[in-house]
Amino acid sequence: MELCFKGAAKEVGRSAILVKTDKAKIMFDYGLKPLPKGVDFPEKVNEKIDGLFLSHGHLDHLGAAPLLKNIPVYGHEITSHFARLLLTDTLKIAKQDGYDIGYGEDDVKDLQKNFESMDYEQTVNIKDESVKAIDAGHMPGSFMFFMEKSSLLYTGDFKLEDTRLVKGAKVDIGKVNTLITETTYSDRDHPDRDKEEKRLIEYIKQTLDNDGVMLMPTFAISRTQEIILILNEYGIKTPIYIDGMSASATEIINAYPELQKDYNSVKKAMQRLDVRYVDAPNRKKIIKKPCIIITGSGMLEGGAILEYMKRLYDNENCSVALTGFQVPGTAGFKLLQTGQMSINGKEVKVKANVKKFDFSSHASRTDILKLVKKLNPENVFCIHGEKTEEFSSELKELGYNAYSPDRKCYKINLDKK
Ligand SMILES: [Zn+2]
Ligand SMILES: [Zn+2]
Repeated sequence: MELCFKGAAKEVGRSAILVKTDKAKIMFDYGLKPLPKGVDFPEKVNEKIDGLFLSHGHLDHLGAAPLLKNIPVYGHEITSHFARLLLTDTLKIAKQDGYDIGYGEDDVKDLQKNFESMDYEQTVNIKDESVKAIDAGHMPGSFMFFMEKSSLLYTGDFKLEDTRLVKGAKVDIGKVNTLITETTYSDRDHPDRDKEEKRLIEYIKQTLDNDGVMLMPTFAISRTQEIILILNEYGIKTPIYIDGMSASATEIINAYPELQKDYNSVKKAMQRLDVRYVDAPNRKKIIKKPCIIITGSGMLEGGAILEYMKRLYDNENCSVALTGFQVPGTAGFKLLQTGQMSINGKEVKVKANVKKFDFSSHASRTDILKLVKKLNPENVFCIHGEKTEEFSSELKELGYNAYSPDRKCYKINLDKK
């Protein structure tokens, strides 16, 4: 068996792993890495692929998928809807910013046509291999993929603990030969979720008491809905708005109530809180009164949040809550580090309060180690992280045959048990 890492090697972004058995060529994910201007693609594939398996609906896992033409694409049905949403948006941004993304609307449509839905625990046969989908606990419809014949598990993005939105992963497959694991948080544990929620609620209350607007730039898919569930839990009473792509993502998630930990929880919470969708013409109006605005672009890289920031950055009664991982080099990362951001092409000091919260849907360091120990693999490949070299060294010290792979191919001996 051969593993070829086409992306997500020593980095977060553009996940793409090609696995070759004697007969089958299987691709796990084919994502993009968004850059301040433009995107990074995974390495090109020159051979015929038998199937593309999409672990979940995030851009870093499917953003380059339309480049792999005319092949069956497998994933949860909800992932095909997220794909349409994300890819259409990616095309729009590429057009606006004037760079070439290598595919067009027709390719996005073809991807939908070639999509074959899988359910949790379902297996698909590809030549001499069978691939099983396992709940990854990362977001609605997120899969790990297990190659049953080769005994290889690709985790995609995963989380073992429950969140408010989805149940955590339970991986009951015994020992595996080869593990390819995400390591986004390989160097740290998450803060206590309960305390983190209370800290957020306190921050929101303070802001509202000061008659301020609470801006929550939030990853549209799954984080927006997690935030809604938290606000509902604490019975926040103030107008709550969802703007931009977060609205479409919420509609998709509401169409799959059975994928939520508590059936239909998001829709129920939205009704209880009277959450409203807001569009561009009404942005100016809603910020005149205290309210909470949840909007896409979790790292402040574009979209509606920039418009709100333009109007509110100078207002010390207003607040920004960053609710997710900030990739180095992004505007969100810079704002946290320097308190500055670019408004109308000018660097300005942001007077509004800025705080970061950890509502991550990724496994903590402790949980990654827990999974490795449970599966007790012959080989571990650490990907999708900024600290893969350090983490693979640690695993080596624990006695595992661990790698921080480069963007190249590795041969795996399956006889060694
Ligand atoms: Zn993800
Ligand atoms: Zn990811």
